[in-house]
Amino acid sequence: MKEIVLTGIKPTGQPHLGNYLGMLKPALELAEEQGEERLALYFIADYHALTTVKNKKELQDLTDQAAATWLALGLNPDKAILYRQSDVPEVFELAWVLACFTAKGLLNRAHAYKAIVDENLAAGREEDKGINAGLFTYPVLMAADILLYGTHIVPVGLDQRQHLEVTRDVAIAFNKNYGNIFTVPKAVIRKEVMTIPGLDGRKMSKSYNNVIPLFAPSNQIRKQVRRIVTDSKRPEDRKDPEDCNVFAIYRHFADAEAVAAKRQLYLNGGLGYGDMKQELYELLETAFSAQRDTYNALMENRDELDTVLRQGAEKARDIAVPILRKVRKAVGV
Ligand code: AMP
Repeated sequence: MKEIVLTGIKPTGQPHLGNYLGMLKPALELAEEQGEERLALYFIADYHALTTVKNKKELQDLTDQAAATWLALGLNPDKAILYRQSDVPEVFELAWVLACFTAKGLLNRAHAYKAIVDENLAAGREEDKGINAGLFTYPVLMAADILLYGTHIVPVGLDQRQHLEVTRDVAIAFNKNYGNIFTVPKAVIRKEVMTIPGLDGRKMSKSYNNVIPLFAPSNQIRKQVRRIVTDSKRPEDRKDPEDCNVFAIYRHFADAEAVAAKRQLYLNGGLGYGDMKQELYELLETAFSAQRDTYNALMENRDELDTVLRQGAEKARDIAVPILRKVRKAVGV
């Protein structure tokens, strides 16, 4: 039996460095190593995005951008399965079944939902203001995304750990009642890239508007890098590299020797933030400019993207349909 690796990205904005380091890069490495024993399924969670993106063209553009990102970064769609969530309708049937095994209290505590409730309360608003039921039940659909394919491992960033726990809880609850129908998946969260900070030091996130997009034009990347918030220390002052938002990103792109040398320069004094930002910008250009060309070419050819995604969905359904059949049989419908 193959080990199934599965992960997804929500097309709610352009993919950014947090997505790349936290999930895309580890997932691509897992797909590279896949050989005969491992199969990677990577998807664009377009129906998850519908909780917030309510403009048709925007949703389609963002979905294609996410697909083009996977491919530009080197995902081989002949080896891995790349598909759109909405092209596999079985997932929505399974989501209903799983909802019937999900404690509502578990969803009340899910942090993505709770964060908005807390924000509402802090602003003196009614606690569920602006929250649709799709957003509330998001972890159930996510559980279906994962369990529908017999997934063993899910590479994600730290922000998804709790949602993965919900998936495991639901799978275990279901199995307890009906026998071993679902594989209980495990999250794979890389320690060094658990949470990549954004321009302001909070988690890099589309919802905080503090991101560095992977494939924005070069001048926009430079602008974003210049906007990274630093303290007001002068070049000659000693600084703590662990407390610097520029270093926090730089360390993932420079080689080990350069990182060690920079760390020393921070500690000794003699480093200006402006120079450091310029270096980071250049490293990002080196890392991504060739892939950006591929990305732009893919975005010029949306029909081809669509074909890749549809073919991926067919392969995904070959795995999903028998599992859903087993579930239906188990529950008695
Ligand atoms: P999303 O766009 O929210 O669907 O996120 C896609 C993936 O990127 C998920 O596995 C997240 O955990 C991961 N991710 C998002 N932001 C960050 C971040 N700032 N640091 C590390 N991983 C992240």
